[in-house]
Amino acid sequence: MRIFDPHIHMTSRTTDDYEAMYAAGVRALVEPSFWLGQPRTSPESFFDYFDSLLGWEPFRAAQYGIAHHCTVALNPKEANDPRCLPVLDALPRFLVKDNVVAVGEIGYDSMTPAEDTALATQLQLAADHGLPALVHTPHRDKLTGMRRTIDVVRESALDPELVLLDHLNETTVKEAADSGCWLGFSIYPDTKMDEDRMVAVLKAHGTEKMLVNSAADWGKSDPLKTRRTADAMLAAGFTADDVDQVLWRNPVAFYGRSGRLQLDAAAPGDLHEGNSILRGGE
Ligand SMILES: [Zn+2]
Repeated sequence: MRIFDPHIHMTSRTTDDYEAMYAAGVRALVEPSFWLGQPRTSPESFFDYFDSLLGWEPFRAAQYGIAHHCTVALNPKEANDPRCLPVLDALPRFLVKDNVVAVGEIGYDSMTPAEDTALATQLQLAADHGLPALVHTPHRDKLTGMRRTIDVVRESALDPELVLLDHLNETTVKEAADSGCWLGFSIYPDTKMDEDRMVAVLKAHGTEKMLVNSAADWGKSDPLKTRRTADAMLAAGFTADDVDQVLWRNPVAFYGRSGRLQLDAAAPGDLHEGNSILRGGE
């Protein structure tokens, strides 16, 4: 089984996770830039973070046979802090990098006017750079948030074919599908979507344009949720080809629109800017 996790924050995960993910079939992933839990106070700390998504993290993933790409953006939560807004002006110099396969994650957190501006600005940046956009839908007040998100996408210059609406669930899937966007589902332990509910959504709505991710990060999450969903699909009677479509071909088709996917994990060098994952040891 080959698995592409289209949304996972490996910066927050350990090398044990990389090892377990490879063993479970994960061969490629996309790491969206996001909120780090601790609020940032200056644009420069975003730039160092983006550089690590473009440098150190793909290097680390390659040590475990996994192809790593990223998306960059000013995330919705920090778009509310005026100190962080200069990130928007600096994004073009990151969006031209080979490993950046989308603008993201963007979208709404609390649906403030500052978030409106950041979302519209970054959808335009995606259109200008010929890149897809990864759009997070809010965890609170989900249906209202998703409707407003779709309205902003419709008003933007970006084709819905280039938009992945993420963190969907049973209440939002139908309208999201009608919008023409790609459909992302984050499978979490204990809260929000789980793998059995995901299987039910796939039975009701089919496998076209459907993507499943673990969204694993620094919070309670599980980087193997992609594999667990694949196993639940097989147990429920889906074919291996259905699993391959949802867990591999759909994310490849979506992020492939960037023209930048390199699915062979680059032969790992031993060093990144003079450093190894052995912290200088032999
Ligand atoms: Zn995320």
